[in-house]
Amino acid sequence: MKISFPYMGVPFVYKKVLELLGHDVIMPPRPSQRTIDLGVKYSPEFACFPLKVIMGSYIEAIKMGADTIVTSGGHGPCRAGFYGENHQQTLKQLGYDVDFIVFDGWRDNIKRNIQNVRKIKGKNSIFKVYKIVRLVYQMLQVVDSLEMRIQTLRAYEKAKGTCNKIWDAIQRKLDEVETKEQLEEFKKYFYDQLDRVELQEVAPQEKIRIGIVGEIYVVMEPSINMQIEKVLGDMGVEVRRSQYLSQWVEHNMIPFKKTHEDEILKKGEPWIEISIGGHAKQTMGHIVDYKQQGFDGIIHLMPFACLPELISQGIMPKISEELDIPVLTIPLDEQTGLANNLTRIEAFVDLLKNKKNNQHKTAVIA
Ligand code: SF4
Repeated sequence: MKISFPYMGVPFVYKKVLELLGHDVIMPPRPSQRTIDLGVKYSPEFACFPLKVIMGSYIEAIKMGADTIVTSGGHGPCRAGFYGENHQQTLKQLGYDVDFIVFDGWRDNIKRNIQNVRKIKGKNSIFKVYKIVRLVYQMLQVVDSLEMRIQTLRAYEKAKGTCNKIWDAIQRKLDEVETKEQLEEFKKYFYDQLDRVELQEVAPQEKIRIGIVGEIYVVMEPSINMQIEKVLGDMGVEVRRSQYLSQWVEHNMIPFKKTHEDEILKKGEPWIEISIGGHAKQTMGHIVDYKQQGFDGIIHLMPFACLPELISQGIMPKISEELDIPVLTIPLDEQTGLANNLTRIEAFVDLLKNKKNNQHKTAVIA
């Protein structure tokens, strides 16, 4: 079996788990314009943008020799539940003979998940599989906490690009981690590197924090979201995003665990009562959560043809007004580029700065 997977967020982690299980792994290339063009060419026209990009990624991985794709599925009203079938059928029509192993959330399809674990575990004992999965989950927690730190520091670094270099090194070095001891060293080393980043002094009333919400793929994959976190960091803005891989794993793969996402879903309930697919309810919940944490604004990333996020978009004016938190919605598709969005993002950041300054002045005068 030559296994590949969708490229999203920190793909070295998926590679790691498969390699530790003894598989031959084909690392898909980072999505590029070529990936998007391939996906757009071979996907149904009405499909949502992430489905198209992932289609392009699969074609690239298959051309590199992959014969099996491991991916996640989903249940509910949005298209994510049909991703596996849709991709598989289209690839078959194109003449590619490729197997799909689709993992659902543990609550959704326990039987299929057990069958998948059997397929993927190879000759490893269940105990060894457990140890590997635990190690990789710990890696995700470490990487996510380092990334959150970077999302803060990037806004204040004296030498622009320092945090980006450290983030690139984190992703490269992660590939070398194979044991818990190495993970501890890795963590210590990179926390130390981040502690050494020289920072500018910025007054608290001038600090701006933005929460990025929306559909999981466009929120987590920088190559198709215009690297929005870096763009905002370079403008001196701290960011958090609604999705981190370790939190996704906790919510979808660890049975009976009370998770952060459960709280977020509860916070989203007054705005979207039932599950409408994708992460629309979480989008609402995160906006409420960011407001409670004192964030200054929200950027809502919405893939083209995404029905759940289209519904969220319809609620944005009301939630923004009621919570008094500005929201900028950015639709993303194959035509989107930073050039046609930069002015909007800059104007949004200026608006947040002015709002915060005015509040500060009023508070000082009062
Ligand atoms: S949430 Fe939106 S973009 Fe994601 S699979 Fe569903 S319809 Fe597509």
